[in-house]
Order: sequence, then C-alpha cells, then structure tokens
Amino acid sequence: MHKDIKKILIDQDVLQRRIKELGQEISKDYKGKDLLVICVLKGAVLFMADLVQNIDISLEMDFMAVSSYGDATQSSGVVRIIKDLDASIENKDLLIVEDIVDSGLTLSYLMELLKARGVKSLKVCSLLEKPENLVSKVNIDYVGFQVPDEFVVGYGLDYAQKYRNLPYIGVLKEEVYK
Ligand code: 5GP
Repeated sequence: MHKDIKKILIDQDVLQRRIKELGQEISKDYKGKDLLVICVLKGAVLFMADLVQNIDISLEMDFMAVSSYGDATQSSGVVRIIKDLDASIENKDLLIVEDIVDSGLTLSYLMELLKARGVKSLKVCSLLEKPENLVSKVNIDYVGFQVPDEFVVGYGLDYAQKYRNLPYIGVLKEEVYK
C-alpha cells in the first residue's frame, strides 16, 4: 500500500468484478442503440478504459474535461469546461462516465449543457457515489459503489494530480492535505 494511504476501500479485484457487471448491464440496455460514451477527464479515464472493454456492443467514445476542486478537497460549485467534445452529439444515445459524484453540482451542470445540444437520450454511469452529500439530486443510472464521506484517491481519482495510478480506491491520510 502507498505510504500516503490510510486504508484501501475497494481493492482491484472488487473493482474489476463490479465493472464487468456494469458493462454487461450497459450492453443489455443499449442493444440496438447508437451509444456514445463520454469520459469526463481526468478522473474517469481508468474506469472508462476498463468499462468499455466490458461492453460488447458497438460504441463510440469522446472526452470532455471540466474543472473540479483544484487542489482543495471541497466542491466550489463552479464548473468550467476545459476541453469540449470533438464531435456533434445530436441524436446520439449518450452515456456520461464519471469517477465520483459528491455534491452532484459538476454532473448536473454537465447534463444540462449536453441535453441542450439535442441528444436522443442521456444517462450517467459513475464509479463512485457519496450519498450523504448529494445536494443537487441528480439521477445516476449506473453506480459502481457507494462510498462514505471521506476523501478518496486512486484508480483515476487524484489529490493535487497525484495518486491516479493506484490500482485501488483508498482513503488519503489527513496529514497529506491538512
Ligand atoms: P461534485 O460536483 O459532485 O461535488 O464533485 C465532483 C468532482 O469532485 C469529481 O468529479 C471529482 O473530481 C471531485 N471529487 C469529489 N469527491 C472526491 C473525492 O473523495 N476524491 C477525489 N479525488 N475527488 C473528489
């Protein structure tokens, strides 16, 4: 285990097993549809890469980057597009792939923005959800795991751009960010 990690919440095996299930569920639900999977950078990149390998229907991928916390651990509520999608999403069946939904502010902003571009359908798949903090009441169609209200890193999730490469989801020691 990395020296800055207090405990492992979700190990590699458990992650991969759940991602396989999510992929199977998504494959079934989107059969015959025009699936476009949108990865929200950078946090969702590892999840997205594993998820699409477990989806066995034809799909396209695109990437988007929005601002998150900067180097702090609390949501500012301010969302900024850093990188927009490359192609038009009109009439597509969109699946947004997120790393974690905390307050839901980032996601609800993103959903409104994408809906306004004339999508056929829009669903969300988030690896993690912190249910205690969901203030904006966004509906998440596919959830990997619910996690407690602690700051987690690993498997794409960062603190100050670090720890994304850890193959598990862990809780950061408080002394690292306090
Ligand atoms: P929200 O707008 O839902 O409050 O926050 C969403 C974004 O905040 C996520 O996409 C992620 O970048 C960041 N975030 C929220 N909670 C955590 C956490 O526990 N760990 C990390 N690394 N990022 C988080």
